[in-house]
Amino acid sequence: MQIKKTVLILHHDKGDDSGPMAVLKVVNYGEPVLRQEAEKVTKISAKIQKLVADMFDTMYAYDGCGLAAPQVGELKRIFVLDCSTEDNPMPQMVFINPVIIKKQGAMISREGCLSFPGVYTDVKRYETISVRYMDMKGKTQVMTVQEGTLLCRAIQHELDHLNGVLFVDHVIDRFTTDQLLAEKHLPPIEPEKILIEPELDEALAGVAL
Ligand code: ZN
Repeated sequence: MQIKKTVLILHHDKGDDSGPMAVLKVVNYGEPVLRQEAEKVTKISAKIQKLVADMFDTMYAYDGCGLAAPQVGELKRIFVLDCSTEDNPMPQMVFINPVIIKKQGAMISREGCLSFPGVYTDVKRYETISVRYMDMKGKTQVMTVQEGTLLCRAIQHELDHLNGVLFVDHVIDRFTTDQLLAEKHLPPIEPEKILIEPELDEALAGVAL
């Protein structure tokens, strides 16, 4: 198995669009809304369209590559992504009511989160996933992403937010991460939230961390 380590937060410069920018407040780790389960979207209303546009504005304003609705205080099952890099432009993507329908392999992913400013740490992720979701036209889509690409890891990270799960729940080194959190004046890891992931642990066993 190949282990990749890449920083998940990239920089962008895409605040181009028409219409006024609406940058929403991103809530930080410690706010209860980040631990709540988001509700399914039943209709792509004008309100949802506005929320999605504002989420993109917010994500670019904070230099993120992904943002989930609970991070702006909206408990809706929506996240947005733009995993473009300088040499690999990608389209903007919106995932509504996403569900991971297949997962395979394991990897270590170095991640950050807009709700954890300045904190980056290694977490466990699946290497290949298939996700079913609804696009902005209300059409069901299935996407398979492999080989632990940024997109693959970002989908897992953002989908977790819709279930009140945070990247530090997949942490590899709890105590070092606690130090990083303290340095940024964020609350420590909640030990009872750390996920038991035997499949990932088994696949990662023997790998020098
Ligand atoms: Zn996040």
